[in-house]
Amino acid sequence: MKYLSCQIGNVTIGHGHPIAVQSMCDTDTLDIEASVAQCKALAAAGCDIIRLTTQGLRQVEALAQIKARLRSEGISTPLVADIHFSADTALAAARVAEKVRINPGNFSKDHKVAMDKFALLIDLCRQTGCALRIGLNHGSLGERITSQYGDTPLGMVKAVMEWLQVCVSKEFYNVTVSLKASNTKVMADAYRLLYKTMAEELGLVFPLHLGVTEAGAGDTGRIKSAVGIGTLLREGIGDTIRVSLTENPVNEVPVAAALRDLAAQPAPDPDATSFTVDAQDHNSFIIQAAYLAGPALLDHRIDDFSLAATVAGKPLSEAQIEAFKDDLMQACRRRFTKPEYIACPGCGRTLYNIQSLLTEVMEATKEFAGVKIAVMGCIVNGPGEMADADFGYVGEGGGKVTLYKGSEPVMRGIPQEEGVAHLVELIRANI
Ligand code: SF4
Repeated sequence: MKYLSCQIGNVTIGHGHPIAVQSMCDTDTLDIEASVAQCKALAAAGCDIIRLTTQGLRQVEALAQIKARLRSEGISTPLVADIHFSADTALAAARVAEKVRINPGNFSKDHKVAMDKFALLIDLCRQTGCALRIGLNHGSLGERITSQYGDTPLGMVKAVMEWLQVCVSKEFYNVTVSLKASNTKVMADAYRLLYKTMAEELGLVFPLHLGVTEAGAGDTGRIKSAVGIGTLLREGIGDTIRVSLTENPVNEVPVAAALRDLAAQPAPDPDATSFTVDAQDHNSFIIQAAYLAGPALLDHRIDDFSLAATVAGKPLSEAQIEAFKDDLMQACRRRFTKPEYIACPGCGRTLYNIQSLLTEVMEATKEFAGVKIAVMGCIVNGPGEMADADFGYVGEGGGKVTLYKGSEPVMRGIPQEEGVAHLVELIRANI
C-alpha cells in the first residue's frame, strides 16, 4: 500500500504529516479588503489552509490580489480556490491558488467532455504546482451515478473513483479527496468505503479532507462535526479537516484544532459506555464528550452511556448532561427530539445574512421535532447540497427567497422578510 501526500503551498498533508486545519472565508471575494482581513484573522487563529469562493474570472483576479497582499504582509497560509461549475475558472485559478477545489462532474453534463476538461486541468496543475481537491458532496451526484447506485455512500465512492482513475492514469498524485454529507452516518460510511476502495482498487491512498457539511451553528453544529470527523480520525482516517459552522469562520478553527489534538492522543476504548470529561469551557466539553461517546453511538455499538463532567472545575448538573445527550443522540441519528437543521456555513455566494436568519428559523420552528429544515445561502448550490431535507429556505438574490418541500421549489420570489412565516406555514400544512 502506498500512502500519498499532497503539497499545498508550504503545507503538506497526508500520511505521516500533521492533520491540517482548514476554513473558508464567507466574504465576497471581490471585496479585497474584507477578504484579506478575514484571511488574516483565520491565519492568526491557527488556520493552516484557507478557501475562498471563486465563481468566475473576476474572482480569480481578486484572489491573486488577496494572495499578493497576504504574502506582502508575511502571511504564507495557502489559499484554495473554491470552484463549482466552470472549468475555465478552475484553469485560471490553477495559475493563482495553491489548491483548486472542484467537482469535475460539474464541468459538463456530458461525462466525456467533463473528463477531457479535467484532464486539461491536471496538465496545468502539474505545470503550476497547484494541488487539486476533488470534492463531491452528498446530494450533488449526477443522474448517471444516482440511477445506478442511488444517492448513497457507494454512489459517492463510485463517482469519485472515476476521477481518481484519471489522476492515476496521468500519474498526477497531488490530490486530496472529500465526500462530505450533513448526515453524519452517510459521511462516515462514505469516507470509510472510499479509504477501503482506494486501497483495494488502486493500491494507493490519497489524502482525505474531512467535513460534515451544512452542520449548522452553536452546540449542534459543533457536536455533529465532532461526531463525524472524530469517528474517522479515531480510525486513522483523515488528513485535513474543516468544521463548517454557520457562524464567523474564525469560530471553526478552535473546534477543528481541538479535534486534531484529541486525535493525537491514544485512541479511547471504542466500546466504553462510561465517560468522564474535565473541560476548561463549554465548547471544549461538548467537543470532547462527543468525540468520546459519539462514534460508538453512530455505529450502534452502544445505545446509551453515562457521563460525568466538570467545566472550569464546576460539575455539570443532570439537566445539563441530559441536554447534551439529546444533542449527541440527534447528531448520531439515534433519537430525534428537535428539528434537524441543515444550514450551509455561508460563503462569498451567500445572498443574505445567513447567521441571523438561521437563528430566526430555529426560533420559529423549534416545535417541529424530527423535521429536517434546510437554510441555504444561494440558489445555485443550495438546493443540491441540502440533500434529504424535508423543507428548505434558499436565498434567491435581490431580497427574495425560494421555499422547498423536499427537492421541489414550491414558493418562489418571496420577499425575504416574509420568508420565515411562510416556511412555518408550509411545514404546518405538510406534517
Ligand atoms: S449553499 Fe451556502 S456555502 Fe454553498 S455555495 Fe451557496 S452560499 Fe456558499
